[in-house]
Amino acid sequence: MISYNEALDLIYNEIGKINLGTEEIDLTESLGRVIVEDVLADVDLPPFDNSAMDGYAIKYSGVRNRNIIGEISAGNYKEFTVGDNDAVGITTGSKIPEGADSVIPIEDVKVENNILLINDNAVFKRGINVRPKGSDLFKDNVTVCKYTKINPSVVATLASCGKEKVKVFEKLKAGILVTGDELIPITEIPSGDKIRASNNYGLQSAFQSINQEPIDYGFLNDDRNIIKEKVKSILSLDIDIFVTTGGVSVGKYDFMKEVFEEAGVTKIFWKVNIKPGMPFYFGVYETINKHILVFGLPGNPVSTLVNFYIFIEPVIRKLMKQRAKDIYTATLQNGIKKNDGKKHFSRGIIVSGIDGWEVTAHSSQSSGNYFELGNANCLIITDEEKQNPKKGDLVKCILI
Ligand code: AMP
Ligand code: MG
Repeated sequence: MISYNEALDLIYNEIGKINLGTEEIDLTESLGRVIVEDVLADVDLPPFDNSAMDGYAIKYSGVRNRNIIGEISAGNYKEFTVGDNDAVGITTGSKIPEGADSVIPIEDVKVENNILLINDNAVFKRGINVRPKGSDLFKDNVTVCKYTKINPSVVATLASCGKEKVKVFEKLKAGILVTGDELIPITEIPSGDKIRASNNYGLQSAFQSINQEPIDYGFLNDDRNIIKEKVKSILSLDIDIFVTTGGVSVGKYDFMKEVFEEAGVTKIFWKVNIKPGMPFYFGVYETINKHILVFGLPGNPVSTLVNFYIFIEPVIRKLMKQRAKDIYTATLQNGIKKNDGKKHFSRGIIVSGIDGWEVTAHSSQSSGNYFELGNANCLIITDEEKQNPKKGDLVKCILI
């Protein structure tokens, strides 16, 4: 069976053929998207010398008593020529008047009869509390680099550069199909041997959490022909990624692998030496003008989502030119039972402790236990050769 790293490499080998489009969208819609252009400052930032404090603009000299000759507030510049004995009241962000070069904060002065008295203990040197023109960025400098993921401060930076529209990668076109005879809609109350089809909801929101909007094709019972027809029709659509859950294991009704083959999908691998999510299937559907990555995930809810976190999310990050998720090294707070040669992705809770990160593994690592997955904030990675990590061991974690 191939290892996790080999599996990931095999998937990465296939993603070069996916042609991600770009689109121009409103800045207000751009949060979480990946910008595909370098954005240059179209003006100096800040555009003029301005005050970093509320206080008094002065021309630096040893003089501590000055005449207040007027005031300037942000956006309401007035012309003054500030001489050695003058001061101009000024608010944060206001343009510094002619002649002035320093700002004494309001906390460091007294004012009596329009005379400014600078306190003896005031820190008082040339240039203090002035943000010079262009000190953040000069015009034509790169302010946001290509392939930056847009967060609120990037939005603010883009706004300050007048970018009402930004060019970003298009969202991937992804489809989700869920299979299983036991499944019923979530609006129904399960009876007998039925369970609610929860995987499509979990998967859809996993995609949404990384700014993708997959189409949910709902669920189908384990009827080979019906599933085959549906798979074929989904593969005929303009999509980049197709994810199914259920039916990839070795049970009598686990025929997704054959269905994929009959639908023209080329299998790249099936089964990876990991836990949970071992019966993971990956293939590609290729025609002259399309290249669809096909992921067949096992139906166990935890396996489904763990497979998403460890395979599909890294692939999408790579496609979007983002680096891999950070790996946190944490001190394990309890032992994990592991006596096989698989790579384990155990669910746990990581917190910041006195001496760095601390992680507690959940007691049940059942791949059906949705509830515990919901209470986890990380996956603890235990490599193939490592056995029974114990309390106090340093372990690797990724946040989920
Ligand atoms: P399978 O991968 O089809 O062998 O299913 C493995 C386990 O996951 C079984 O216990 C199924 O009942 C369960 N399962 C399959 N699909 C879903 C789903 N969409 N939502 C919740 N549980 C599921
Ligand atoms: Mg099944």
